[in-house]
Order: sequence, then C-alpha cells, then structure tokens
Amino acid sequence: MTAGKSILYIEDNFDNRMLVRRLLEHEGFLVLEAENAHEALALLQTQQPDLILMDINMPEIDGYTLTRQIKATPQTSQIPVIALTANVMRGDKERTLRAGCDGYIENPIDTDTFIEQVNHFLNGNGVKQL
Ligand code: MN
Repeated sequence: MTAGKSILYIEDNFDNRMLVRRLLEHEGFLVLEAENAHEALALLQTQQPDLILMDINMPEIDGYTLTRQIKATPQTSQIPVIALTANVMRGDKERTLRAGCDGYIENPIDTDTFIEQVNHFLNGNGVKQL
C-alpha cells in the first residue's frame, strides 16, 4: 500500500525534485520536499515522513552529515533514510551506509524500477536484499 504514505525528498537540484515528485505522486505518495539541510530539519520538527530520500551532494551541509543528525535525533531516528546519490565511486555506497543510511538508490534514477526500489525500503527491507 503506497497511498497516503509520505516521503520527504531532500535535494538541492530542482529538476531532480520535479522528476521524483512526479513519479511518487503518480503512485499516490504524499511528497514533501526540502532543498537543503536547514529546510529538512525545520520540516522534521512538525512532520514525520514514512521515508526520507537523501541527496548526498548539497552545499553547506551534505547528505552524510544530515543523515547522521537525523539518526542521532530520537524523534527522527526510526525514519528510514535512503541515499539517492550519483556517487558511484568504489566505497561511496558503503560510506552512505556508515553515515546511517538504510539503503541507497543510484542517481540518475531508473524510472522503470524507481517505485519498486522505494517500496522495497518502505516495506522495511534492507539494502542487502536488493
Ligand atoms: Mn545535489
């Protein structure tokens, strides 16, 4: 069941946000957006999304730092954080997991399998089964 589930996408790139919003809303997800860490943390004061999609490369505070902060905060530590990252160099995926991410999806996303990947993590499955 995806209808009614809310997903927070933290991403500084407008075009990426539009694409992901379109795909998720088409599936019935409620999409929340933040374009930087400050916006994300402010939003998380009042909203409890079911899943967070996290860009890694952002100005000022990057996705690694923000993920650590979210996971260190009791009110948000249980929310699954999935890195959405163009960092495909050897070791970068491991680095997202060490920062506390529960999984990762490669960017640019594969529009044919993106929803499947999101549902996989939303259903509490880990990165190892992907
Ligand atoms: Mn970015």
